[in-house]
Amino acid sequence: SQQLLPKGDSTNIEVVVRVRGLLEREKEHQHECLAHTPVDGDYHKISLVPKESSAQSKKYREPKLFEFDRCYNSFDDTSACYASQFNVFKNTGEKMVNNTLEGFNSCILAYGQTGSGKTYTMMGSKSNPGLIPLVCKDLLNKLNKMTDTKHELTLSFFEIYQETAYDLLNDQKNQKLRVREGTDKIPFLENLSEYPIAGTDDAQRWINKGINHRTTAVTNLNTESSRSHSILTLKLVQEKFNPENSSIVKLTSNLRLVDLAGSEKSIATDGLDAKRLKEGNKINKSLTTLGRVLTLLSENSHSKNNVLIPYRESMLTWLLKDNIGGNSKTTMVACISPTDFDESLSTLRFATITS
Ligand code: ADP
Ligand code: MG
Repeated sequence: SQQLLPKGDSTNIEVVVRVRGLLEREKEHQHECLAHTPVDGDYHKISLVPKESSAQSKKYREPKLFEFDRCYNSFDDTSACYASQFNVFKNTGEKMVNNTLEGFNSCILAYGQTGSGKTYTMMGSKSNPGLIPLVCKDLLNKLNKMTDTKHELTLSFFEIYQETAYDLLNDQKNQKLRVREGTDKIPFLENLSEYPIAGTDDAQRWINKGINHRTTAVTNLNTESSRSHSILTLKLVQEKFNPENSSIVKLTSNLRLVDLAGSEKSIATDGLDAKRLKEGNKINKSLTTLGRVLTLLSENSHSKNNVLIPYRESMLTWLLKDNIGGNSKTTMVACISPTDFDESLSTLRFATITS
């Protein structure tokens, strides 16, 4: 039942939607799923249906229809667009691994409100590993089979909280990192720790360390992980032997896997205290800037004019500059909680402007 879908358009930015299934407690409370895909058998389409009883959706009585590169559902496990970890990896993750091996910088971003499945998509669980562990495993497998290539793979992991970057793999907790730009104008974090990865055990060890650190760093900062962006980077340097002229070609590329902060509006309005409000504004700023950057890039993907992309307006987009735009390949996974009409609508609209 697990099959591959035909490849879509080969643009550099792809947007897919993943509707998570109803959780046990949602089923118990008889919540209904409001996000329906496929629409008339079309896996590019998703329809968001307002709850009949819901007062706040009065202005949206009609179902809203959206179109993306692919929409994953959580009810039909025989379909190729069933949102299993395997399908999401096979259709979305593996392509990025291959891009990275070909020397393109690549990036996968999980966007959505808190509770919509971003961390499940990126990290997954022990029994159902997500994109990060599956991508690491696939990348290592493929590298180990390439006999004509010497390679060096390193991993780093940081988070951005309130426009400040923190190393998740450094034992000195909560050390702020500064962004620098090299002569190549590529931004990087000064003193960010990087570790060589020889096998999946290595990778998993560092990933676990980063996750633990994320929780504790977050506790120290008196906040929740839903308010920070976490960015895992796999950096690959390959030296390929070319037998035709006995030369060595060096390729450098990296793959970034990003678990974004929760996109919910309530962050800015729920907490009445000033700290929360400030947090909310900063999260919104980086997500809004991300939206603008992706929109400008997709609008101008065919134009030869140089458009100024406002990467530097947020820490997130600044640091992702080398992974979004240019020759880089970017996939956004827009995650949907099936029971929340307003937040799902907002997520699908965000995802639309960027596709
Ligand atoms: P987020 O990171 O967006 O806040 P999580 O990934 O933590 O959301 O998901 C919220 C809850 O839903 C978790 O308990 C998670 O295990 C569960 N969940 C999310 N996506 C899926 C899925 N596709 N299948 C099954 N459970 C899921
Ligand atoms: Mg999360």
